[in-house]
Amino acid sequence: MFTIKSEVQFDMAHYLSGYEGKCSNIHGHRYRLIVKLKSETLHKEGQLRGMVDDFSNFKLALKEIEETFDHKLIIENNEEGMKLINSLKDLPMEFQIYKVEYRPTAEEMSRDIFNRLKKKGLAVCEVELFETPNNSCIYTEE
Ligand SMILES: [Zn+2]
Repeated sequence: MFTIKSEVQFDMAHYLSGYEGKCSNIHGHRYRLIVKLKSETLHKEGQLRGMVDDFSNFKLALKEIEETFDHKLIIENNEEGMKLINSLKDLPMEFQIYKVEYRPTAEEMSRDIFNRLKKKGLAVCEVELFETPNNSCIYTEE
């Protein structure tokens, strides 16, 4: 079995609706995303001969994930989230907001990222998303 991995980092703020405690405030993290692709065999011909996948394809896909979330405020698309979005719209400054259909925890985000990469045709087997240097979520489909 061959596994290749690559990593990107991004800064992101999130709001966890329905959460009580310190993290109920809008706050941010420096996220570290590590993705693994696996294959039992290597490509046998052409440009990809001897490879699981071209690292430049792989890195491009991770760059797109990075750009989706980097320096954005991530808010869940529900009633509470929409109230927050609407109140931010009343302010004179403009915030880069990205709505998601889930509570933006490391767990939900790692599953979302896994599915986005899978949809692109990558042989993704594991997504690990660090929310802090010590805490991460690993999502696999096994
Ligand atoms: Zn957080």
